[in-house]
Formats: sequence, C-alpha cells, structure tokens
Amino acid sequence: MRVMKFGGTSVGKPERMYSIANLITSDDESKIVVLSALSGTTNSLTEISASLSKGDRAGAKKQIDALELHYQNFIINLVKSEEAYNKAKAIVAEHFEFLNIILKISYSDALNKDILAQGELLSSKLFSIYLHEQNIAHEWLPALDFMAIDALEEPQIGAIKVKLAQLLQRYKNKTLFVTQGYICRNAKGEVDNLKRGGSDYSASLIAAAVDASVCEIWTDIDGMHNNDPRVVSNTKPVEQLSFEEAAELAYFGAKILHPASIWPAQTYNIPVKLLNTLQPDAKGTLIIGDAGSVGVKAVAAKDNITAIKIKSSRMLLAYGFMRKIFEVFEKYRTSIDMITTSEVAVSVTIDNDTYLKKIIKELEVFGTVETDNNQTIVSIVGNEITATEDVMKKIFQTISPIPVRMVSYGGSRHNISLLISGEDKEKALQLLNKGLFDME
Ligand code: ASP
Ligand code: MG
Repeated sequence: MRVMKFGGTSVGKPERMYSIANLITSDDESKIVVLSALSGTTNSLTEISASLSKGDRAGAKKQIDALELHYQNFIINLVKSEEAYNKAKAIVAEHFEFLNIILKISYSDALNKDILAQGELLSSKLFSIYLHEQNIAHEWLPALDFMAIDALEEPQIGAIKVKLAQLLQRYKNKTLFVTQGYICRNAKGEVDNLKRGGSDYSASLIAAAVDASVCEIWTDIDGMHNNDPRVVSNTKPVEQLSFEEAAELAYFGAKILHPASIWPAQTYNIPVKLLNTLQPDAKGTLIIGDAGSVGVKAVAAKDNITAIKIKSSRMLLAYGFMRKIFEVFEKYRTSIDMITTSEVAVSVTIDNDTYLKKIIKELEVFGTVETDNNQTIVSIVGNEITATEDVMKKIFQTISPIPVRMVSYGGSRHNISLLISGEDKEKALQLLNKGLFDME
C-alpha cells in the first residue's frame, strides 16, 4: 500500500485535482490519498475564527461569504455532469451552513477546531465527487474516525493502527482511498488538528499505521533543495537524505515538510519521497535510513528566534545549575533549539516567545538575563559533516563578513548550526551557496 499526500496548491484548482486524479490512477497498487485543504482555505478559516473570537460577527460573516463564493466558483469548473454538480453544491452548502450556524454560537477553543476542520473535509469530499464522475472506484475515509491524539497532543499510533485497519477491512475489495490530512480527534473525543502544515504528519502516521511501501509527499517543488529557493536563486534538489538529516532540515527551516512527519516514518522504516505534481517524473528527494553519501548536503534557516543569555558567577564550579534553568523552560512548555555554555554563562535559543516575559522573570533569580530577538538559525546539514574535512574552515571563511552570535557543533554528526541576526540571513545563505556548493 502506498500513501500519497497532496498539499494545498496541488488541490487548489480544478485542473490540479485532474492532474492528481491521473497520478493516483497511474498504476494498480493500493493507495491512501491524503489531502490538505485548498490553498488559502485554512488561512481564511483561521481569520474567520479570529473574528469570532473578538466578537466581530459581521466581519466573520463577510469572510464566510467570500470563502463560500470561492467554493461555488471552484465546483462550477470541477465537474461536468449536472448530477455531480448538484452533489458538489450540496456539500458546499452543508459546510457553509455549518459555518453560518457557528456564527450564532459562543466562541470556544473547541469551536475554533471545528471551524479549522472544514477545509480538509471540503477538499476531500469535492475530490471524491470528481473521482465518482470520472468512474474512478474509491472510498472516502473519515480521518476523524481513526486519527487520534492523546491529552498531550501526541498521536496515538497504536489506536490509529487498529482503527484504520478496522475501517479498511470494511472495504476489502477497494484499492483506492481518499482521506483528510491535518484533522483528528483529541483525548476528549473532540475535533482537533495536528497544527498548521500537519497534513504531512497525517500522511506519515497513516503510512506507519498501514506499513506502507512508501509515503509520498506531493507539493509543487521537486524535492528538498540544498538551499532556500525563496532566498537564493540557484538551488538544486537533494537526491537522498537520511531520516536524521531530513528531520534537521525540516525543523530548521525547509518549509517543504512538516518536521514531526519524520519520526513515524523513521520508527516504522517507511521511505518518504518528496515529489512535484507539476513535474511528476522529476526524481525529487528520497528520505530513508541510509544517507547515501557523506558531506554537506543542504543549508536551511529558521527565523524569528530569540536568544537568551543567563550570566552568573554562581555558576562557576556549581552543579545543578543547568537543570534549574531548563526547568524554567519546561514549566512554560517552551522548547530550546540551540545551547552554548561557558563556565559563567549559558545561551539558549527559543522559537516561541509566548511566555518570554515569565521565563525571563524566573531566570533572573539565577543571574543577569539578556535577550536578543529577531535572530536566525542557519543550519548546515549533511551526513557525518562534523567529520568532513575542512568543513568548519569553509563555513567560517565563507561567512566571515557576518557576525555569529552562537555556534552549535557536535550535538549531532549531521548538523552545524549558527545563530546570526535575522538581517544577515539572506547574505549568509547566499554566501554559503557559493562557499559550500559552488553555486551562485
Ligand atoms: N490545511 C492545513 C494548513 O494549511 C494543513 C496542511 O495543509 O498541511 O495548515
Ligand atoms: Mg502543506
């Protein structure tokens, strides 16, 4: 069984849905197709929810109507027969009736999740209507019946496995299934989601649950590139990455893949392929246990980082100091990305500054605290790169015009991270493209 996930832009236009219908029927292997919402929809739903949370019902109503119009136009071009059109119209009406009812209910977090779930439900149902019209045999699977997270918002892979197997058992003679990414049920049984961009995560959890032959993530770029194509003009796809390398790149800024989607594939040893719907024959990127080659493969950057330095002479020769500092971050459920220490100071970085003020206040008990915001982590990723000859020399020579605030080396053998000011990011990525890949 193969899992094929298509992102928002791959389903965002009727023509794009036609292309993916071709892709999923190109051979006889059984498939579970995981769809995102049409591009822009989750953003619109987020805005609708934000308006409601502020009590701005008139604003929310306007946003709902605009989104409904978008879907009404979408289905005119999606299907041809009167019968299919009426079915699609009924689906759109049903989901927008729901959103209109929500206008009258008082806002809550649970309601917000219900609103956000409409996008994937709509895209997968409309795609299913199109497949029916094309006489493509398939079954629509409700992700809310099998995708489950626990009270800590962690996916319950065991439960997902059992529930999905039961569901598939019901349709033994079917070989094609269409389901929703992103949405799930939480420990309370409410509708919830796997956070923004979470459809990739859904796909890899499903692939793990059914022991898929491959988990294909289809977007509109031909794989993970050696550098950020939005910043550097000349980049190329990386052919093969190990799970570790891919996790580092996804976490440290390569937007193409949700970072959490690596662990299920890695744990269950399912190859992941990053492929391009606009260029289906392009090789893309293969992510498996084996890195394939040694040396630097890619650089990625993660923005909006805050660096926090805690300086204390009491740290000198003391033990237990780190634990106390880390406990503060744990208390506020804020994860640390980079750490460097000297005997009298420790610097850490975080990407979520929701609790920054409270964190600083508690850290001040231990010493003086300084923060720098708008920092960027530049990560250089590759297999055994810390053992690659001259790699440090090359990196530092290349970026010598740029002040470096922190360096992380040796945490893993696959990653060297630098913390620089956000303003220097473009320059750093461009310089590294030349220095490490000889590309301009
Ligand atoms: N539709 C959701 C989002 O835009 C999930 C996804 O596309 O992966 O975040
Ligand atoms: Mg996406």
